[in-house]
Amino acid sequence: MAHKIAVLAGDGIGPEVMESALAVLSRALGSESDQFQFEAALVGGAAIDATGSPLPAETLKLCEQSDAILFGSVGGPKWESLPHEKQPERGALLPLRKHFSLFANLRPVRLYPELAASSPLKAERIAAGVDMLIVRELTGGIYFGQPKGRSGDGADEKGFDTMVYHRFEVERITKLALEAAALRKQRITSIDKANVLTTMVLWREVVSQMVAEYNQSGASASIALDHMYVDNAAMQVILNPARFDVLLCGNMFGDIISDEASVLGGSLGMLASASLSSSGSFGLYEPSGGTAPDIAGKGIANPIAQILSAALMLRYSFERDDLARRIETAVGRAISAGARTGDIAQAGEQSISTKEMTESIIQNL
Ligand code: NAD
Repeated sequence: MAHKIAVLAGDGIGPEVMESALAVLSRALGSESDQFQFEAALVGGAAIDATGSPLPAETLKLCEQSDAILFGSVGGPKWESLPHEKQPERGALLPLRKHFSLFANLRPVRLYPELAASSPLKAERIAAGVDMLIVRELTGGIYFGQPKGRSGDGADEKGFDTMVYHRFEVERITKLALEAAALRKQRITSIDKANVLTTMVLWREVVSQMVAEYNQSGASASIALDHMYVDNAAMQVILNPARFDVLLCGNMFGDIISDEASVLGGSLGMLASASLSSSGSFGLYEPSGGTAPDIAGKGIANPIAQILSAALMLRYSFERDDLARRIETAVGRAISAGARTGDIAQAGEQSISTKEMTESIIQNL
């Protein structure tokens, strides 16, 4: 039976870069195209304009019937004055994450050597390369733990949040990090604060136990594990990014470290992400950036983040690491050959359109 993919392009540059990703996918799949069925639906501002809702029932139904969601991005100035829950991001993306229990967010950060000048770090800091994968727990930890709230009056008034992790939550995110590390350089750095937080003592114990069990299970790859306190990790990501392969983080630490690391790649237009669910291989794949209203409709957006998100979909939802690597290699070759959209072009370099970048990647497949 064909794999079904819900295509939700959204707003702003979303439809422009989605067209690129579908063109690259079509060429990469070649004779296997008939095994993948793509169906588009409205989401975000475009859906509000057409139906009044940022996540219409038909769109949600299509997602439920699909094996993966390829998502563009949603939002823009036109819808910013709507009540919060009706706005594109709050009304579509967050409910989708919740509905499908997307408990893990994977963000690969890679700096192509030719784009080193776009990185905020000095050349000597990135000379050894940047190629890391941040695996962030997305539905637990201090953002969701109960109780949380405010109480009391005057000087005694207080605000409080609770940091909770259950063993099963740490186990399932560690399992995912192990699978991802096995496909990469077989190294996991687990980020915690076990010197201060009890939750993180449990986190460290469970991660250590699972990696040891994995290595004793006769799995083809043996995974090296180290633990790092989050304050040190925040420094090391900048001082020595090459030391990292997979970074395994809880929700809050992953939120901070992933944004810190994301700038190392040079542009938001290069950053893909995958959000994976607790039920099998279902996932939502999207660029890390937004709808870029400042350049939407001009045909100059960088399609690479959307194209690399499609590659992640092939890897994680359809177990086609071979096809994912082909696409990733083609992106690297296009960059090596000098293809640059405006966001990654340096002074004096000629920039090309979204379509030309797409064409260059397709030629390099
Ligand atoms: P943004 O990511 O859209 O843009 C920030 C800057 O990065 C802009 O200068 C933009 O031109 C540039 N940029 C982003 N993607 C690019 C690409 N592919 N190629 C070239 N340049 C690119 O962030 P913002 O301006 O804060 O938000 C704009 C809208 O997007 C808002 O409505 C926001 O709510 C929404 N948004 C949506 C998502 C999502 O759907 N997941 C995420 C972030 C922001």
